[in-house]
Amino acid sequence: PSMAQGKLKSSVLNSKPNPKSPVASRFRQKIAEHRKSLPIASVEKRLIEEVHKNDILIIVGETGSGKTTQLPQFLFNAGFCREGKMVGISQPRRIAAVTVAKRVAEECDVQLGQRVGYSIRFDDTTSSSTRLKYMTDGFLLREALLDPLLSRYSVIIVDEAHERTVHTDVLLALLKKVQRARSKAVNERSENGDVLRGCQGRKVSPLKLIIMSASLNARVFSEYYGGAKALHVQGRQFPVDIYYTVHPESDYVDAALVTIFQIHLEEKPGDILVFLTGQDEIESVERLVQERLQHLPEDKRKLLPLTIFSTLPSEQQMRVFAPAPIGFRKVVLATNIAETSITIPGIRYVVDPGLVKARTYFPNKGMETLDVIPASKAQALQRSGRAGREGPGKCYRLYPEREFEKLEDSTKPEIKRCNLSNVILQLKALGIDDIVGFDFIDKPSRGAIVKALEELSLLGALTDDGKLEKPAGDQMARLPLDPVYSRALILANQFNCLEEMLITVAMLTVESIFYDPREKREEARTSKNHFASVEGDHLTYLSVYRESNEFLEKRKTENSEAKVDKIMGKWCKDNFVNSRSLKHARDTYRQIRGNVEQMGFNVSSCGNDMLEFRRCLAASFFLKAAQRQMDGTYRALESGETVLIHPTSVLFRSKPECVIFNELMQTSEKYIKNLTRIDPLWLAELAPHHYKTEE
Ligand code: ADP
Ligand code: MG
Repeated sequence: PSMAQGKLKSSVLNSKPNPKSPVASRFRQKIAEHRKSLPIASVEKRLIEEVHKNDILIIVGETGSGKTTQLPQFLFNAGFCREGKMVGISQPRRIAAVTVAKRVAEECDVQLGQRVGYSIRFDDTTSSSTRLKYMTDGFLLREALLDPLLSRYSVIIVDEAHERTVHTDVLLALLKKVQRARSKAVNERSENGDVLRGCQGRKVSPLKLIIMSASLNARVFSEYYGGAKALHVQGRQFPVDIYYTVHPESDYVDAALVTIFQIHLEEKPGDILVFLTGQDEIESVERLVQERLQHLPEDKRKLLPLTIFSTLPSEQQMRVFAPAPIGFRKVVLATNIAETSITIPGIRYVVDPGLVKARTYFPNKGMETLDVIPASKAQALQRSGRAGREGPGKCYRLYPEREFEKLEDSTKPEIKRCNLSNVILQLKALGIDDIVGFDFIDKPSRGAIVKALEELSLLGALTDDGKLEKPAGDQMARLPLDPVYSRALILANQFNCLEEMLITVAMLTVESIFYDPREKREEARTSKNHFASVEGDHLTYLSVYRESNEFLEKRKTENSEAKVDKIMGKWCKDNFVNSRSLKHARDTYRQIRGNVEQMGFNVSSCGNDMLEFRRCLAASFFLKAAQRQMDGTYRALESGETVLIHPTSVLFRSKPECVIFNELMQTSEKYIKNLTRIDPLWLAELAPHHYKTEE
């Protein structure tokens, strides 16, 4: 609530002036100038020629050169969106899809959702007039289930391919197939003289494929597409001085803070970008910056901390792009989202502790770890490059120079370190049966594939010989959820507690429902106890959701969305519930309820029969059950791992004999999260194919 925040808000407001005002026309002019000044602008003609000439094109270009925002507009102007066709641009990160679409809509001077829109899971802004569609790679993959030839697109751009997310890797392979199928269809058509129709009777035409990447290693993509042409877009890069620390830093957060203030007090104007590992860390650094600012003399306090990370609400995401108020210096606290996916203007200083948070999945243990690990060399280079886009810059690496040499060259593709059951189910639903032989750019390990196939067949999505189970497998593939959660909804339909399960699954898709501020620990705990169920976390979430709903029903005098948000916001604050998470869960609930209704399910409730609901939870999550051991630790039945109940669970103290859980995660310990107490006998009864009763 400082003065600085207030000022920023008004400058954000100023960036959306009345369309007819002189301010607006100046704004438009500024945007036009900015667009013209981008490195990619000078090669527009050449790029379009190459797209006409090549069905597959690899474009490599320095971050910030204008690939993501400009190329789709070039294609639009060159006529690639005639006859209602679209240009689709896939992004590995939700937040990049959203912020870039907003920016491009602004550049085109259209309303978001008209010519330019974005689609991400649980949030689709596109309309029938959308021609440039930004979306996550996962969203595009799901779209292929409904329209296997992706016939609405004339061009598909796979952006940020160097990120090598599992969805990008699967897309790269799938699009190869789609392109072939469309060419074949077009050739046959010209032979027979008739028109082949794709989804909803659309005329099928050839598909152009563009792979864009920031790294210089275009060769892997080019080779993967049989020697496809690679184009390099020259960027504008000013020199960046790199500084290292003399000794390793034991507390990198503190080192980052010291560096931020050193820059602020001693260096020339220019904004600062700091790479941190996650939301909690970012929020705590934000608080610490604010605190330390209070100790500075009044005239030295013109430093404005701003944050950007994936779960930031979308109203706030665009703030980092607005210029700092006059006289102020911005310090942007970001995750690796700011490495290549989005470019924030004005950055001159980069502070890089050299770390990332990475998930790794261990198929044989059914366990995931979330660790802070050293970033790769490629990442370190990308990060420092961010300081030199508009002029010479400085990058402060918070580790000794000798450590740099020890870093991995690049990050391991996600497909080699994640749970594959989700993508394998999607591939199966797309009719691709031979997963081991599938043309992946990097093959996942055989063990990981086998494990995922096993899991899918235990969940009833696949038959024993690996074919898609009808209709369950199909239904599960279509729901935008992890297969276990989709399965839970299908089962809940049979247990007559679909309403309860929809709420539970929606609550499980968001992070931390409860808000636990340091300064009000006691109050927060009392409030949480009020919702806590002795049966476990799932029932606790259910009661949070229900109480918030009842509260809303009682006060709802008018239905405007703003009003609802306000009422909910107050309720959340009073009850120490994270309002952002709850809002997200409510939206998710609405969406997946729509999905299951479309599948013909009738949403029924088990009322107060929580026994039935718990049995349904046990039947759904039987793969993740754990039993208490003599010493109070638990044994996860599937893997045999010794685990602890996570301190955030409502069952942390009561330690029931047997539980099911949703997450097994190793941080400092192996923890299980999101639990419900069950009767151990239920496992054999409800999942007899997995748990045999002992004779
Ligand atoms: P690339 O994809 O090549 O990395 P982009 O197309 O994302 O480059 O960005 C091009 C330029 O547009 C950058 O200079 C960036 O600063 C600017 N830009 C992108 N998004 C915004 C935004 N929301 N507000 C202001 N400038 C932006
Ligand atoms: Mg880009």
